[in-house]
Amino acid sequence: MIELLGKNLTELQAIIVEAGFPKFRAKQIMDYIYKRYIFDFQAMQQLPGNMRDWLTTHCAISIPEIVTEKTAPDGLTKKLLLKLSDGNQVETVLMKQHYGNSVCVSSQVGCAMGCVFCASTTGGLYRNLDTHEIVAQVLLFGSLLKERIHSIVVMGAGEPLQNYTNTINALRLLHEKEAFDIGYRRMTLSTCGVVENIYLLADEGIPITLALSLHAPNDAIRREIMPIGAHYNLENVLAAVKTYYEKTDRRVTFEYILIDGINSSIENAHELGTLVKDFPNCNVNLIPVNGNEHIQLFKPSRRQMEAFKNIVASYGVAVTVRKEMGDAIQAACGQLKVQHAQKQSE
Ligand code: SF4
Repeated sequence: MIELLGKNLTELQAIIVEAGFPKFRAKQIMDYIYKRYIFDFQAMQQLPGNMRDWLTTHCAISIPEIVTEKTAPDGLTKKLLLKLSDGNQVETVLMKQHYGNSVCVSSQVGCAMGCVFCASTTGGLYRNLDTHEIVAQVLLFGSLLKERIHSIVVMGAGEPLQNYTNTINALRLLHEKEAFDIGYRRMTLSTCGVVENIYLLADEGIPITLALSLHAPNDAIRREIMPIGAHYNLENVLAAVKTYYEKTDRRVTFEYILIDGINSSIENAHELGTLVKDFPNCNVNLIPVNGNEHIQLFKPSRRQMEAFKNIVASYGVAVTVRKEMGDAIQAACGQLKVQHAQKQSE
């Protein structure tokens, strides 16, 4: 079966023409899939009957099955646990922001990176997601809501720069006007700092926002909580991020998870302010860790977080504390999947 989801217009045209159908039919198929959320070929009534039959026999639009769906009490965050065709599961989250619907997608099943605060890495990396499996996460929310998706954040399970080609292809397709027509400036990709691929991304010609999972103000703490810190020191990671900024002119976000007793002291706040103060056009996003007894990590008190923020801001850095959207539905990456697996094994 030929998977049609995840194919861009040019690829779809090639498939259709090779099968002996006119090129313009490809646009109609994309319209059915991405604008009208019709995935059954026989329901694509504008297509001739022989084409619908050919598509049914030879092609597929693989929409993952929804295993669980959770909505936060305020109705602003919705999280789906999806079952892929091989039985693996991934999560995707919708956040209703004041500016529109934002979807947070996963790029891998599991993750190899081993960050100590992250539930996605508990079982290691299972596999990369294919382009169509990344796109399907956005498509599912679009079809559930019947509303436009405004922005994409690649911050779910997985390290997107370790699944580079499929992730970039998915973002290009989501940008295509025949698909979701989402501007690159409304896409954010978060990486823990795969240096070589940050340089590659800088040359892609897609001006998305880069968010670096920094999470530590020095190499020693970073190595302690993020194994990637042993491969790339902060100097090299920040040099790559600076190059990204210079080539794309896109503001860079530094993500910093606040963990009590590990990276959230007054001294750490001064170190962080010093580290990023000369970085052109950046902002720091402080995130209270979504910790628990299981991982033995906890967020600092509100007062500590406020003090940390004020110290970083005193260096002239734009800094915010992230609103904990979705706390009630475990919307930090990996958490819903872990919870579901635990229930099944009980
Ligand atoms: S924080 Fe991101 S890079 Fe680190 S283990 Fe979790 S998913 Fe992987």
